[in-house]
Amino acid sequence: MSNHVTAPKGTKDILPADAGRWQHVEAMARELFKAYRYQEIRTPVFESTDLFQRGIGENTDIVGKEMYTFESKSDDPTKRLSLTLRPENTAGVVRAYIQHKLFAQPLPQKLWYTGPMFRYERPQAGRQRQFHQLGVEVLGSDDARWDAEVIVVATDFLARLGLPALEVQLNSVGDDACRPAYRDTLQAYLRSHQDALCENCRTRTEKNPLRVLDCKVPACQPVVQAAPTITENLCDGCRGHQAAVEGYLTAVGVAFKRNDRLVRGLDYYTRTVFEIVSGDLGAQNTVCAGGRYNGLVEELGGPSTPAVGWGLGLERLLMLLPADATPATGLTALIMATHGAAEPVAFRLAHDLRGQGLAIDLANGGKLDKQFKQAERLGARYAVILGEDELAKGVVSIKDLTTREQRSVPLDGVKDALKGAVAGGK
Ligand SMILES: [Zn+2]
Ligand SMILES: [Zn+2]
Repeated sequence: MSNHVTAPKGTKDILPADAGRWQHVEAMARELFKAYRYQEIRTPVFESTDLFQRGIGENTDIVGKEMYTFESKSDDPTKRLSLTLRPENTAGVVRAYIQHKLFAQPLPQKLWYTGPMFRYERPQAGRQRQFHQLGVEVLGSDDARWDAEVIVVATDFLARLGLPALEVQLNSVGDDACRPAYRDTLQAYLRSHQDALCENCRTRTEKNPLRVLDCKVPACQPVVQAAPTITENLCDGCRGHQAAVEGYLTAVGVAFKRNDRLVRGLDYYTRTVFEIVSGDLGAQNTVCAGGRYNGLVEELGGPSTPAVGWGLGLERLLMLLPADATPATGLTALIMATHGAAEPVAFRLAHDLRGQGLAIDLANGGKLDKQFKQAERLGARYAVILGEDELAKGVVSIKDLTTREQRSVPLDGVKDALKGAVAGGK
C-alpha cells in the first residue's frame, strides 16, 4: 500500500460524485453560448513558449515564475522547440485566429472555450496547478456593445447557476491616446511617495506604475487612495466608449459599480476592464475577470483587430455554487430480475429501453429488498420488476419509487409506459 502512485501536487481527480456538478455548469454554459451565438474553439494545451512571452508579457508573474516549460523531443537539436503548457487561453485563441485567418470571415468572431490550464503556484483552496477555465473572446469590433454583451453573458450565466449578490465592477484603463500621459502623471506622483510604498510597488513604479493601484499591502493604501485616477485623465474617445458600455448594461438592468482602482495586470488591456464579484456582505469573491484588448492580435503578428473577452476559473466557481445546484443522476429505471431465467429478459429489456433514450441500469440481483435499496441509492425514478409468475404471463411490474404506486404492464408495453411517465413528468 505504501508505494502506490498519487496525483501530482496541485492536481485533482474529478470523481463521479462530483462530475455531475461540472456537467451541470458546462451544460448551462453551452445553452447560453448557443443563445448568444458564441461558437466553441478548442486549441492545444501546449503552445510555443514564445506565444505566451509575447502575448502575456515578460514582466508578469505568469511568464516570470509560473509556466510549465519544456523542450520538445527531436533527434535534431536544432529542431527542439521550447513549449509551454498554456497558463491561460486568450493567447492561444488569438494565435488560432491569426493562423487560420478567421479575420477573413464575417466579424466579429464570437468564440468560447473551456479546458485545463497550468500554472506553477502554491496550491490552496480553489487554486490548483492544473485548473479549468471557461472564457469568451469577441474579435474584430471595437463597438461598445460587445464589451457590454460579454459582461451580460457572464452575469446571465452566474445568475442562472444561482450565485448570490452579483456585482459588476467596471473601469476604463484608457488607450494609446490617453494612457501614456496618465502613466507619466501617475509615475511622477508615485516617485514622490516612494518611502510610503512596499518594495514591490517601488519596482512597479518604474516598470508598470498602473499595477501599484492593484497593491493589496495595507501600508500602500493611503498612497494608492490619493493617487490620480485614469478616470479623470481619459480622452474623449475613451470617455464616450465607457458611457456607451454603461448605457447598454443599464438597458438590460445589469447593475455595475465604477471602480477607478481596477486595473488588470496584463499590458494589452485597453479601455474596458471589469470584474464580477459574488457573495454576501463580508465574503466577496471575484469569479470572472476580463476586458478589452485592442492591441494583442497585432502584437502577435495579426492584422489590427480590436477584441474583448473574459475568463473564469471553474474550481473557484464550483466552490461558490449553492449545494442544491447538484443535479440528480437522472436514472429512469432500475430493472430487477427475481430469478436467473429472467436475467436475459432483463438484459434485453434494458437494451431496448436505452434505445428509446431512457437512462436504465440493471440491479445486482439477490433479494428483492436489497434490489430496492440499490434503486434508492442510485436515485432511480422507477423499478421494473421481472417476477417469475408474472413473466410466465408476459407481464412485469412497474413501481413508482416516489409515490410507491405499483402496476402491472405487458412486457412489450414497458417502453410506452416509461416514456409516457417521463414525458408527463409523473
Ligand atoms: Zn505595495
Ligand atoms: Zn483614451
